[in-house]
Amino acid sequence: MGPDDPGYDAARAVWNSMIDRRPALIVRPTGTEDVVAALRFAREQDLIVAVRCGGHSIPGFSTCDDGIVIDLSRLRGAEVDPERRTARVRGGSLLSELDDAAQAHRLVCPVGVVSHTGVAGLTLGGGMGRLQRKLGLTVDSLLAVELVTADGRVVRASEDENPELFWGLRGAGANFGIVTSFEFRLHPLDGLVTHGTVTHPIERAEELAERFRELTEDGPDELWTSFGMAVGGTHGPVVSVSVLHSGSPADAERDLAVLRALDDPLEDSIEAKPYLASQRLFDAPMEWGQRFAMKSSFLASLPEALVREWGDELSRMPDGAEGGFSIWAWGRAIAAVPEDDTAFTGRDAAFWAGAEVLWADESIDAPCRSWARTAVDAAAPHATAGRYVNDVAEVGGEVARTIYGDAKYERLLTLKREWDPDNLFRLNQNVAP
Ligand SMILES: Cc1cc2nc3c(=O)[nH]c(=O)nc-3n(C[C@H](O)[C@H](O)[C@H](O)COP(=O)(O)OP(=O)(O)OC[C@H]3O[C@@H](n4cnc5c(N)ncnc54)[C@H](O)[C@@H]3O)c2cc1C
Repeated sequence: MGPDDPGYDAARAVWNSMIDRRPALIVRPTGTEDVVAALRFAREQDLIVAVRCGGHSIPGFSTCDDGIVIDLSRLRGAEVDPERRTARVRGGSLLSELDDAAQAHRLVCPVGVVSHTGVAGLTLGGGMGRLQRKLGLTVDSLLAVELVTADGRVVRASEDENPELFWGLRGAGANFGIVTSFEFRLHPLDGLVTHGTVTHPIERAEELAERFRELTEDGPDELWTSFGMAVGGTHGPVVSVSVLHSGSPADAERDLAVLRALDDPLEDSIEAKPYLASQRLFDAPMEWGQRFAMKSSFLASLPEALVREWGDELSRMPDGAEGGFSIWAWGRAIAAVPEDDTAFTGRDAAFWAGAEVLWADESIDAPCRSWARTAVDAAAPHATAGRYVNDVAEVGGEVARTIYGDAKYERLLTLKREWDPDNLFRLNQNVAP
């Protein structure tokens, strides 16, 4: 499809409406052979290549001006083998497809929290989600991929086949080829989880932060927690703790007592609900077509002073925007995987912290972006190694080196020179050969 075709404008749109690019051509392969043919064509015509799964890349890596978009939206679907507890997922699938297929057998793969996100982009960068303390990152459940390489070969990568490539794909994956199929290990999850948020006025931020730290340190691996400070909702500036407990409702009630004992919340939405319902709760608030910016950091701790500074930072968010800070409990199953086992960098942190801003009015683009760029700066003294590649909105220069650190970056560079020496796959946090 090209600029003169009906549907071109809808087809070129990506999730973040800050991104407005006009590719020369959008192709929608229906199988691996089509992907091979599209790549061959791109090489022959010397076109810049954008690869698209869910289209949620925050800096807009899955589209381009004047080049070709290889849009995998016709390469969707997940098949589960309940005996082996594995899922085979096509390279253009959305999280909802994997969630639905796995839960049909009371199984689960740990993935992200908005079900219209793409499996490919999320997985190839790492994959955070509400089951991460029990089951690890998405990439920790990845068993193998089928990949179309820059020179048009179809290869498999796993711990046994092309293991070094498999290492790089788990954290820097958009650099090495087009994944046409993923194979994941699945885990038992019996339908119901206890999930929701307790919200209080911002004045209680320090008190709630203390409860969050207690829950995070003392709670079981089944308990995921996040701490939030936000503006833009119906209550004015608020502080909240969100939880998902994947154990029994009785265990959840026991483990969450300390949080729910706080008087007079503005809201308490914690209750038992189907896992699939919880996975879709944020689909509407995070719908397509928003203007969005963010920045994140890994933290060793969440000191009181930082909570106070971030509380103050909320008042500097531009009028008309909404968002704030969210801090997720890290560690446990994530930290159980040795740092050097995957290209993903940042397993040693105690917390992941992100500043996010959403807005609709173009005229406040600049202050919103600028807020997101600097809002997490106060965390610098508490930051640990690595950055989560899927959150990084800056592009070019040495950005990729700051994500992976020098040693892993050099290892990725060797891999890139072997698998994509001409940098055909460059619309990503690029390891430039
Ligand atoms: C609303 C929203 C919610 C989010 N929630 C979470 C969350 O809970 N947890 C989390 O970890 N992250 C989350 N993210 C971040 C998300 O992981 C990244 O934006 C990710 O890149 C999205 O993947 P995608 O397939 O949708 O993106 P796309 O824009 O399609 O692709 C992203 C990158 O992957 C490459 N790529 C896409 N498909 C393939 C393929 N088949 N083979 C090789 N490379 C490919 C693209 O070229 C591009 O560089 C969220 C983002 C948004 C916008």
